[in-house]
Amino acid sequence: MDFLNEEQIAWRDTVARVMEREVGCEYVRRCDMERQYPYEAYEKIARLGWLRLLIPEEQGGDGGTIFDYALMCEGLARYGFDFATAFMVSTFTAMNIVKYGSPAQREQYLPRFMRGDIRFSISISEPSAGSDAANTCTRAEISGDAWLIRGQKLWCSGAAANNTVIAMLVRTDKDARKHHGLSVLLVPNDSPGLDIRRLPTLARRATGTTEIFADDARVPAGNLLGEAGMGWEIITDHLELERIAVSAAYVGNAQQAVSDALRYAQERVQFDRPIFEFQVIRHLIADMQTAVDAARLLVYRAASMASQGLSCSREVSMAKLFASETLQTVTRQGMQILGGHSMLPEADMERYFREGMQSTIGGGTSQIQRTIIAKSLRL
Ligand SMILES: Cc1cc2nc3c(=O)[nH]c(=O)nc-3n(C[C@H](O)[C@H](O)[C@H](O)COP(=O)(O)OP(=O)(O)OC[C@H]3O[C@@H](n4cnc5c(N)ncnc54)[C@H](O)[C@@H]3O)c2cc1C
Repeated sequence: MDFLNEEQIAWRDTVARVMEREVGCEYVRRCDMERQYPYEAYEKIARLGWLRLLIPEEQGGDGGTIFDYALMCEGLARYGFDFATAFMVSTFTAMNIVKYGSPAQREQYLPRFMRGDIRFSISISEPSAGSDAANTCTRAEISGDAWLIRGQKLWCSGAAANNTVIAMLVRTDKDARKHHGLSVLLVPNDSPGLDIRRLPTLARRATGTTEIFADDARVPAGNLLGEAGMGWEIITDHLELERIAVSAAYVGNAQQAVSDALRYAQERVQFDRPIFEFQVIRHLIADMQTAVDAARLLVYRAASMASQGLSCSREVSMAKLFASETLQTVTRQGMQILGGHSMLPEADMERYFREGMQSTIGGGTSQIQRTIIAKSLRL
């Protein structure tokens, strides 16, 4: 049974075809091995117009639904979650400008973004603001016609890529209580006073994740998104879309891990028979595919509710929790099925496994998702 309508099936198949013919697994693998941002693929996707999928028609986009967007994220992650991240951070962060940007900001950023000339990153985390994301210490003060930013941000994915504008959570009112007094600034990554360093992480090797040092970094006064003090509201809204996107991408990557494991199990002969003939292996694969299907249904439910404008933070957290843990579990099981071959980059499973290890941390950890779900269940 397929829950998708004809248009959605056609869109899903288009994304799959482009990934297979225009991008390919070898390219994605090479970007990971060489820790190279996927610039060529980004240009191709931009030329296809996919960056404008979620942007409303009146702002020059295609006005697609969050469900369409989830299908795209699922497809883009087929050969690796990290690859899809390059597109996801840019596209879900762009929506903050759509929702909270002034007409001048939309005019300044959105056409260039949709053409692929600039991209976006989101910078919430800091050394002492991880799960406790509102514990932001980076300060921004207005000085004449500019904001001066001072502090350190951490884990900002994609921020070192060419022509990136970082949506950065900063504290603009040091006297306001924790979640108040926060604002979001649009900070081009070549702003004076900014030092961005890529980190040698286990996962996210192509898109890259970074630490950012701001030493009186300067951005124009007009780069404040929304109003001063609206930072937490913007970030809460942002995280809902981010979690739908990444959950869909976990499913896409997890499906590929199961398909790879199945193919290998049918081809690999030991004791004169394909290892798929051993019940312990075939049952493992049955469990893996069942988990991926269940994760997909949770993601589609959350994306469908969000598309209808329904309140769905519980459903989004359930999708994030289950899809990330599924990616982590099936890639670990895939490693076991591929045996020694799983250790080589050519087998791809070790890359999927590394992404799986990251998935239960980035975008809010599994523990935080459980906390959100539990809070929503309380009578
Ligand atoms: C590869 C990568 C890319 C990332 N990209 C970005 C990005 O682009 N932008 C960005 O802003 N951030 C990004 N992050 C940061 C990510 O969102 C944080 O790592 C995440 O929110 C967890 O924060 P932390 O790592 O400081 O862990 P901590 O918050 O220190 O947590 C450590 C452990 O304690 C647990 N814990 C903490 N508080 C609680 C609690 N209240 N109840 C129960 N358990 C708790 C956590 O679940 C975790 O297991 C990225 C991280 C990684 C690893």
